[in-house]
Amino acid sequence: MSEYFPHLLEPLDLGFTKLKNRVLMGSMHTGLEEEKNGFERLAKYFAVRAKGGVGLMVTGGIAPNRAGWVGPFAAKLSSKSEAKKHKLITDAVHAEDGKICMQILHSGRYGYHPFTVAPSAIKSAINPFKPWKLTQRGIKNTIKDFAKCASLAQEAGYDGVEIMGSEGYLLNQFIVNRTNKRDDEWGGSYENRIRFPLEVVKAVRAAVGENFIIIYRLSMLDLVDDGSTWDEVVHLAKKIEEAGATIINTGIGWHEARIPTIATMVPRGGFSWVTKRLMGEVNIPLITTNRINTPEIAEKILSDGHANMVSMARPFLADPDFVLKAMEGKSMAINTCIACNQACLDHAFNNKIASCLVNPMACHETEYIVTPTTAKKKIAVVGAGPAGIACAIYTAQKGHEVTLYEANKEIGGQFNMAKEIPGKEEFHETIRYFNYQLKENNVDLKLNHPVDLAYFDGQDYDEIVVATGVAPRQLNLEGIDHPKVLSYVDVLRDKKEVGETVALIGAGGIGFDVAEYLTTDTLPTIEHFNKEWGIDKDISTRGGLLPEQDDPPKRKVYMLQRSKGKMGGKLGKTTGWIHRLSMKKKKVNLINKVEYKKIDDHGLHISRDGEDQILNVDNIVICAGQVSVNNLHEALKSKGHKVHIIGGAFEAKELDAKYAIEQGMKLALKI
Ligand code: FAD
Ligand code: NAP
Ligand code: SF4
Repeated sequence: MSEYFPHLLEPLDLGFTKLKNRVLMGSMHTGLEEEKNGFERLAKYFAVRAKGGVGLMVTGGIAPNRAGWVGPFAAKLSSKSEAKKHKLITDAVHAEDGKICMQILHSGRYGYHPFTVAPSAIKSAINPFKPWKLTQRGIKNTIKDFAKCASLAQEAGYDGVEIMGSEGYLLNQFIVNRTNKRDDEWGGSYENRIRFPLEVVKAVRAAVGENFIIIYRLSMLDLVDDGSTWDEVVHLAKKIEEAGATIINTGIGWHEARIPTIATMVPRGGFSWVTKRLMGEVNIPLITTNRINTPEIAEKILSDGHANMVSMARPFLADPDFVLKAMEGKSMAINTCIACNQACLDHAFNNKIASCLVNPMACHETEYIVTPTTAKKKIAVVGAGPAGIACAIYTAQKGHEVTLYEANKEIGGQFNMAKEIPGKEEFHETIRYFNYQLKENNVDLKLNHPVDLAYFDGQDYDEIVVATGVAPRQLNLEGIDHPKVLSYVDVLRDKKEVGETVALIGAGGIGFDVAEYLTTDTLPTIEHFNKEWGIDKDISTRGGLLPEQDDPPKRKVYMLQRSKGKMGGKLGKTTGWIHRLSMKKKKVNLINKVEYKKIDDHGLHISRDGEDQILNVDNIVICAGQVSVNNLHEALKSKGHKVHIIGGAFEAKELDAKYAIEQGMKLALKI
């Protein structure tokens, strides 16, 4: 038994094969699947994670035929020539003593192309393409395609396949009335509706023989109207076991569900209670999933008997060595996934290669390599925000001598404000990880140490990196000095008192965050999350939905912008809708096309469509973007120093932490 995390690190015997531990790296589409040389890059990506000790990995979704594509020319496995490329992946994983399954994903009506098929010709609200109704022959051929795809995966050297039966994809679409209006043997009664997934599992088992892992991803909580009932889920799980699955994995929520299931505001382990309900109903192992991101929470879930295994996907983008570090009892050393979706899912949905905000090396393992230096230099980094810290850590990892200067008493820069936002508590973890890495790599950290131009006179640094970040934009508006006016820094960092009614000038990421901060008065518990989003913990209703119960907002807030576009339209693709919905729940008044006139004792004077209004508020909080703090770069250069500039100091517009950390890393790799 392992000294640390005994349940998580316990092997799992599947009879014909044994997994090293109870950790599954869940399926993630990286975009490399469709990229030139993508399979070489995927081989390295998976090999690094196999070396990191994961018990079993699952690839991104691979379609069994053209209709099953997630998008035009998406990855598919239906021929021997396609199978050959996968051999690169399986060889690389097995060389590191790892195990890997290939996910077979038929997107059904979620496919973003004109050849999509579904049980019935009903368009999804999240896709412009209306699917073609599958004919009976089409259904039988699709089942054959699944079986062939699994055989080819076996030939390519995979240890098994995962059949994607959840998140509202094709198999899920057959199961529920919402999307299946057929009146033949594949629709109507529940027994008819589950025939398709069961026939798929049976055909795959027949094609691959006994000694091959089949994971079935079962939608245990649909979170859409007219979804499955709990009794139906249990019935299907039993039938899936009978049909030949080795393991059942948990699926939570269809993609079209309007409830957050993996974003950062979902409490850690927020859905493992669903899997727990199925424990004891079947005899094969169950995997639970969603917002599990530390070994502690994973261990607790397993020791509380919620599942036999845990699936973590994004945490392995953030840190490929998660399991190795857990084995050594070094949780502090893990780069924790903060569930921001900014570089992983947002990239995938924008047809960009996925990566990770806190680990920009993810999915770029063949490009970004820390090579030890042969010419050690003395480097000063000014500013311990995300950009400066990332640069300092990677530069030190190369073997340079690094000093990091920070004006404040703590590292983290703007992250110290981000971590104050309800639902963004995970930012604490990044600061903890940064602190650990700075120490581990012997960076000489000088806190409470603002530096100016004169400081570098007589210092013998070979190179200086300016990472002094950003400051709030000052507005040129009558009354801006009025006592009612605060900046987001006053509110989030300095905790200045804020009244009952507030107007926010600016509706970017920070405006939305401040609105959340000012209107929320509750702790992020699973019970509260379920109540707020209308999740039926008893799953007594179809799809597990109840009427939402919004708390009365803590304050009355107006959020304003000058432009006419959708408020929050530039927020992340996979999280913006959640922030907008949250504002609706908190009754925040969103007003665009505003002209700011002045601020006085009456409040904020605005004009909209030529009509003047006064927002009679206690406070006006300025969240109107930022400007670079950069008074060192050119001055140091003109004094003959070799200087670099990164992060917000370099460019404040469009700056976010993803950009800041990546830029810090890229510079370090060049120094
Ligand atoms: P900064 O974070 O501004 O750090 C600069 C550092 O330099 C500071 O610590 C400062 O004290 C120090 N410094 C300045 N001058 C000197 C000097 N002369 N000597 C020594 N030290 C000096 N981004 C996202 O991507 N996702 C989010 O969800 C997100 N949420 C946010 C929420 C809030 C409330 C806020 C305020 C920001 C958020 N951001 C988010 C933005 C993100 O935090 C910034 O883009 C990022 O911190 C910029 O990094 P930086 O290192 O360039 O600058
Ligand atoms: P931002 O997203 O650029 O938003 C700035 C807001 O201020 C806009 O609503 C803009 O709207 C307004 N504005 C700009 N100039 C103004 C002026 N002169 N007078 C009045 N209003 C003005 O910047 P931010 O909100 O400060 O965020 C900074 C960075 O942090 C962004 O890159 C953001 O992506 C990142 N961040 C991300 C998240 C996240 O959840 N992913 C959260 C927080 C922050 P109008 O011009 O229309 O008035
Ligand atoms: Fe996690 Fe954000 Fe990295 Fe995605 S980008 S893996 S959500 S930390």
